[in-house]
Amino acid sequence: MAHVITRPCCNDASCVSVCPVNCIHPTPDEPEFLTAEMLYIDPETCIDCGACIDECPVEAIIPDDSLEAQDEPYLQINADYYKDHDVDGGLVPPKKGPQLPDKELHVAIIGAGPAAFYAAEELVRKPQIKVDMFDRLPVPYGLVRAGVAPDHAATKGVEKTFASIANKKNFQYFLNVEVGKHISHDELTSRYHAIVYAVGAATDKRLGLEGEDLPGSLPATEFVAWYNGHPDYVDLDVDLSAERAVVIGNGNVALDVARILVSDPDALATTDIADHALAKLRESNVKEVVLVARRGVAQGAYTNSEFLALGDVDGVDVIIDPADLVLDDATQAALDSDSLDSTIATKIRLAREFAERPTTPGNKRIVFKFLASPLAIAGDGKVTGLTCVRNEYAAAGDRVSVAPTTDQFDIEAGLLLRAIGYRGVPVTDLPFDEGHGVVPNTEGRVQDAAGGEVMRGLYVTGWIKRGATGGIGMNRQCGQQTAESVLADFIGEALSDPSVSREDVAAIVADRGAHRIDLAGWKAIDAAEKAAGKAAGRKRLKFVSIADFEAAAAAGQVQ
Ligand code: NAP
Repeated sequence: MAHVITRPCCNDASCVSVCPVNCIHPTPDEPEFLTAEMLYIDPETCIDCGACIDECPVEAIIPDDSLEAQDEPYLQINADYYKDHDVDGGLVPPKKGPQLPDKELHVAIIGAGPAAFYAAEELVRKPQIKVDMFDRLPVPYGLVRAGVAPDHAATKGVEKTFASIANKKNFQYFLNVEVGKHISHDELTSRYHAIVYAVGAATDKRLGLEGEDLPGSLPATEFVAWYNGHPDYVDLDVDLSAERAVVIGNGNVALDVARILVSDPDALATTDIADHALAKLRESNVKEVVLVARRGVAQGAYTNSEFLALGDVDGVDVIIDPADLVLDDATQAALDSDSLDSTIATKIRLAREFAERPTTPGNKRIVFKFLASPLAIAGDGKVTGLTCVRNEYAAAGDRVSVAPTTDQFDIEAGLLLRAIGYRGVPVTDLPFDEGHGVVPNTEGRVQDAAGGEVMRGLYVTGWIKRGATGGIGMNRQCGQQTAESVLADFIGEALSDPSVSREDVAAIVADRGAHRIDLAGWKAIDAAEKAAGKAAGRKRLKFVSIADFEAAAAAGQVQ
């Protein structure tokens, strides 16, 4: 028997370090790790010890004799990785932490999402390092709470890891506190040795097309925040009255929004989806979602696991026109000579399987269109459709590219979601690289815009450091790298001692009107949401207004 990694894999690689035979790859030390869609267990090396199962935060690892039918394809997907990757087995020696100077280190982390927590994880291991984590929202966990789709409960299992970090004695929350409003960057730099900005990528990329701002045209990022109960998006105007919606792009966000739009609301009703979204989805007329992707099937931006899982959504057909599955010359040649990267080969195989599947009359539909770009968004006061142009493959470079043909077609639709990626926004008092939407940095150390000089005591991690790519677990390696830079600078005496004690931070933010929520407050909110959820037969019933969060936190604190 061997173990198999399945869909929820979050790539955080916590399994890698506990495997006694080094059978889980790619490891964070291998170059493929940076682009891997998931991790894979070598069935020939696995000794079935179960250590990885205990360590996996998202319950993605399953013994091969216990796989449900929907997870059986992962037997092949795991094994296929080892066809074209020659990896060494054997014991991985544990890493020893560095020897630190004999004094306290005070670190402020701005943001409370996965990247923030993975950096904190490395730091709070040492009791002499005190970590204060700030977030403008009253709740932690960033995109795990406001981004991960509600029907992906297993993925939210990483919250257990984050909760255990937050429970450490040398960790404090300053939730519901906005840096720049309740406390300034300069006030922080004078009170902490190091500031780590983990503020993510707060906006969406733009298509630059006419009609993009018509009612009915929304960034998928906002639609996601709306159905996940982000307090800023509760009142988003989402019109589900038309039978067809169009999604531009085919990354995992595109797949998430398409799936939520056609899922059975009764199934969603068991999840932690926001009540306002569930009510709207119950009245929805949407029967078909068309995903428009500019490149071909081999360049699908989705991960294979998310693509495969679409086939298991009850009452939904995945539609792919076999004629759309034409490959670029280089991919075709590699496929023919059996030298194609296994992840891309799987992408093609899964798409071909979908294209051959029979459909069921009355089912809702997710339709994939490859090699098509949006040209214009039509509408008169609100979106009524989209004009697209068919693309053909252009001359090959490092990245397979396409060029428009003269062939155009229209898609009628009442809702258009732009799922073309997130983008970082400038952080007050830090330099910003407009081209890449990131804060310039070297291994997480902020660099000044002009000369590339490292700015003492300032760090970044997560999407604001490397751009909006990679799932949750990818932030672990990213956060570790930033934390290692902080530690190296501490050891190398490259950090300035604070000129003021950080003990007045709570008073400063209170004076400026912040209703700070600490660990006890968050635990009270968490318990209240779970209790309300249990009473309603749901995982969790999310509060969505700041007043309700504050009331729940306060109620918990007086008990
Ligand atoms: P993404 O993976 O970068 O996908 C963006 C999509 O938009 C691609 O199809 C891209 O096409 C297309 N696109 C970009 N600019 C375009 C333009 N001007 N016109 C037409 N199409 C355009 O972004 P994402 O879906 O927002 O996801 C961000 C990251 O979060 C990804 O790493 C993703 O895997 C991760 N995520 C993971 C999960 C999960 O694990 N379940 C869920 C959500 C998000 P090209 O490929 O041609 O550029």
